[in-house]
Amino acid sequence: MALYQHILIAADFSDHTDMVIQRAKALAAANNTRLSLCHIVEDFPLTDFAYEPMISVDADMRDALLDAGKKQLSALGQKFDIATENQWIEFGSPGRDIVRIAEENNVDLIVVGSHGRKGIKMLLGSTANAILHHALCDVLAVRLQDKS
Ligand code: AMP
Repeated sequence: MALYQHILIAADFSDHTDMVIQRAKALAAANNTRLSLCHIVEDFPLTDFAYEPMISVDADMRDALLDAGKKQLSALGQKFDIATENQWIEFGSPGRDIVRIAEENNVDLIVVGSHGRKGIKMLLGSTANAILHHALCDVLAVRLQDKS
């Protein structure tokens, strides 16, 4: 029996995403492992510098962000041959919701990049760290080097 039955890739659409997917695909290749892809659209608060209110993303903006994300996820799915039924996109908090999606879909390995769009300042990015702390399954953090 294969070591892993269902591998979930956390894709943040950064420059490193292809490398993270390639690593997960290599792990899944030899066996009949289900491979899934997920992206979480974050609620980025917008700060007005004059008044400093924290403006949350409204419903229209949320739908537009989800639509744009769906297109990017679908393009990645096509590029790496990952079927639509194995793609998830949601609005929320990456650290929390990736772990929940994994639990709901019997994922036994989550593959993340060591860092994402927020740059390489620490050994492990905050999303990767949160997933590592909260996931009930194994987590592979693909070590990424800064390109800049
Ligand atoms: P970070 O902790 O933000 O530096 O990102 C580390 C890794 O977590 C990335 O390389 C992705 O694998 C994953 N990740 C970060 N943000 C997201 C997101 N919004 N959706 C899916 N995966 C994410």
